[in-house]
Amino acid sequence: MDKEKQECGKCEGCGQIATDDEGTPWEYWLEIPVKSAGAILMGLVKPITCPECKGHGQKKQVKQKKCKVCGCTDDRACPGGCWWVNGGDICSRCFLR
Ligand SMILES: [Zn+2]
Ligand SMILES: [Zn+2]
Ligand SMILES: [Zn+2]
Repeated sequence: MDKEKQECGKCEGCGQIATDDEGTPWEYWLEIPVKSAGAILMGLVKPITCPECKGHGQKKQVKQKKCKVCGCTDDRACPGGCWWVNGGDICSRCFLR
């Protein structure tokens, strides 16, 4: 199994969920033509961007790079920006300091 490519558990990787009570992955609705056709035509069910993955269809990276000194990550870089040194366990700001 490829650990880098984990599908979002909410939308099952399609990036969209239906506006039904359970937030069913939109994929499922597309796979059930009869059911979806009726409900979609009546405007009962619509696809929305999955709130879990923001439409990426991917699970949040559990194994995120994090600087061992200041704790910055890809999402929260140091003020002014930084990059990874040493294969990602320390960032440039801390490394050069
Ligand atoms: Zn999702
Ligand atoms: Zn750092
Ligand atoms: Zn940093």
